Amino acid sequence: MPLLRVEEVSVSFGGRRALDAVSLTAEAGRVTGLIGPNGAGKSTLFDVIGGLRRPRTGRVLLDGHDVTREGPARRARRGLSRTFQHLEPFGRLTVRDNLRVAAEFGPGRRHAAATADRVLARLDLTHLADAPAGTLPTGAARLVEVARSLVLAPKVLLLDEPAAGQDAEETDRFADLLRALAAEGTAVLLVEHDMSLVMTVCDEVHVLDLGRIVAGGPPETIRQDATVLAAYLGEA
Ligand code: ADP
Ligand code: MG
Repeated sequence: MPLLRVEEVSVSFGGRRALDAVSLTAEAGRVTGLIGPNGAGKSTLFDVIGGLRRPRTGRVLLDGHDVTREGPARRARRGLSRTFQHLEPFGRLTVRDNLRVAAEFGPGRRHAAATADRVLARLDLTHLADAPAGTLPTGAARLVEVARSLVLAPKVLLLDEPAAGQDAEETDRFADLLRALAAEGTAVLLVEHDMSLVMTVCDEVHVLDLGRIVAGGPPETIRQDATVLAAYLGEA
């Protein structure tokens, strides 16, 4: 059974349909990609999965439980964690304190400081621990955002364009991290525009265009899919 199952989710803004009967799954031990041009509905789908937006129709299941009517905090306690495309750190707090505050909400809350330091070390961020989070360059700030979601030890991890602003070396290390998280049993759902990262780390890729899933499959297949190319060329 997939850890995350999205069933026929639809969302409209005014009269305009942002998501149209979207279904997908993310499984433990796998990195699942979600790609598509700007405005396709990727972040809106994350809002629905995370509990920030109620879908007009459809369901979200976490580990077999229908969580469609549950709020974000409840879903987080079930093991769901996400990053945001628009970074929202507590800018005046240090990187370490940003992680500690997040850790207070997770299973490691009794050892929030130690949990924060362990995640910082894992992501090679220890040297930035005392820096105010609002002063970091984008690549590092993205990584801190990922670190904040990792202190919750999520079973399902949603990442919204985590590599935007990372340089090539940061992206390589990030790819290794995603593979390691999957190897530990996490279900990773990755929204990302960096196609080489997506094609390298994902086991499966879903393609969203204008609110609809238009293709899905292993990276080798997606790379050559005419519908996928059209979705991107349409944007260009
Ligand atoms: P993506 O993340 O794939 O770029 P989004 O989910 O951000 O796409 O947006 C999908 C569509 O929904 C876009 O047309 C966007 O303008 C619209 N949209 C997103 N959020 C809102 C909102 N809060 N109110 C109205 N329209 C929105
Ligand atoms: Mg988005």
